[in-house]
Amino acid sequence: MKGNKGKDTKPELVVRQRLREAGLTGYRLQWKVPGRPDVAYPGKKVCIFVNGCFWHRCPHCHPSMPKTNLEYWVPKFKRNVERDERNVRILEEQGWRVHVIWECQLKKKTVDDTFDRLIPLLKEELGRA
Ligand SMILES: [Zn+2]
Repeated sequence: MKGNKGKDTKPELVVRQRLREAGLTGYRLQWKVPGRPDVAYPGKKVCIFVNGCFWHRCPHCHPSMPKTNLEYWVPKFKRNVERDERNVRILEEQGWRVHVIWECQLKKKTVDDTFDRLIPLLKEELGRA
């Protein structure tokens, strides 16, 4: 399906599908806490952000910089990264366990590794091990 926008962008659908396959249902979408995590288990205070590599400046794949208007993009990206860091910090201070999944970790080649790592952690944190 093409043209998914907003909260049902494809990377989030991949994440939700993997969680369901692992039996980790009962999550809520865009829960109303700082940063609006894409997926949250409020009762257990576990949440997952699904970050687009370009906008959130992924530390794994180092997305390219736009060629023009750097005076616009550099501070904009800086604000995005700082906002992400601040949200994670606030959530952790409130007792949340925060996971960040990057778009590039959901590609065909990487997606299995990503969830092989994440699912056991989540099961433990959610008390479903
Ligand atoms: Zn990336």
